[in-house]
Amino acid sequence: MIVAEQKPLAEIMDRTADAGDVLVLGCGTCVTVCFAGGDKEAEILAASMRMKGDLDGRTQRVSHATVQRQCEWEYLDSVAEQIGSADTVVSLACGIGAQAIVERFPESHMVPGLNTRFYGLPTTHGVWEERCAGCGDCVLDYTDGICPVARCSKGLLNGPCGGTKDGNCEVSADTPCAWYQIVERMEKLGHLDRLAEVHEPKNWQAARDGGPGRIVREDLVRERDREAVGLERVSA
Ligand code: SF4
Ligand code: SF4
Repeated sequence: MIVAEQKPLAEIMDRTADAGDVLVLGCGTCVTVCFAGGDKEAEILAASMRMKGDLDGRTQRVSHATVQRQCEWEYLDSVAEQIGSADTVVSLACGIGAQAIVERFPESHMVPGLNTRFYGLPTTHGVWEERCAGCGDCVLDYTDGICPVARCSKGLLNGPCGGTKDGNCEVSADTPCAWYQIVERMEKLGHLDRLAEVHEPKNWQAARDGGPGRIVREDLVRERDREAVGLERVSA
């Protein structure tokens, strides 16, 4: 899932200082699961903003709402009226949901309330760890299921480097070395000979290096949308 953290209250207050009406908009999916931007967090942030606003002498109205997913326009449409009447929407979604608001409602003023961090896994209660960087060319098969792109500090495709010590990465003693884990796992599975394979540089064009990502599933695009997404129409 997408993992995010809430921005400090002071930063959110600063960025909403000029707004008379503020809508704090939560998202009911990934950021609910990581306790950053669900309905409960939206309610608490709205209450905190009202209290801080009172203390600072602001005359600002702050309300809150939550949609199932901010990253789909259909869900955003259910709060179109509230978004339309707010001077500023504080989005408690990941960066995708936050941008969906301004794409669907171009007149709106949106302030991100979260910092989106990574695609991660909850490894124990209250702990999320990065597991994937969306590189667009998955190599998990030759690393026996442990991602060297997201989990090795250098993103090495051939490791480990000389910085691994006692199973940890040289960046810090509490960061496991992904390549140490890969080697351990290869050994357990009887694949250690694979370590001798040299992997050529990856094609990074499928990742951020190739510009913004886009997937077009031709078979799913509606006839009326084909030209707009750069496809030829099927029927004349
Ligand atoms: S290799 Fe790429 S797609 Fe696969 S888990 Fe790692 S970052 Fe994600
Ligand atoms: S010590 Fe391990 S995780 Fe750190 S950069 Fe080297 S191979 Fe990658």
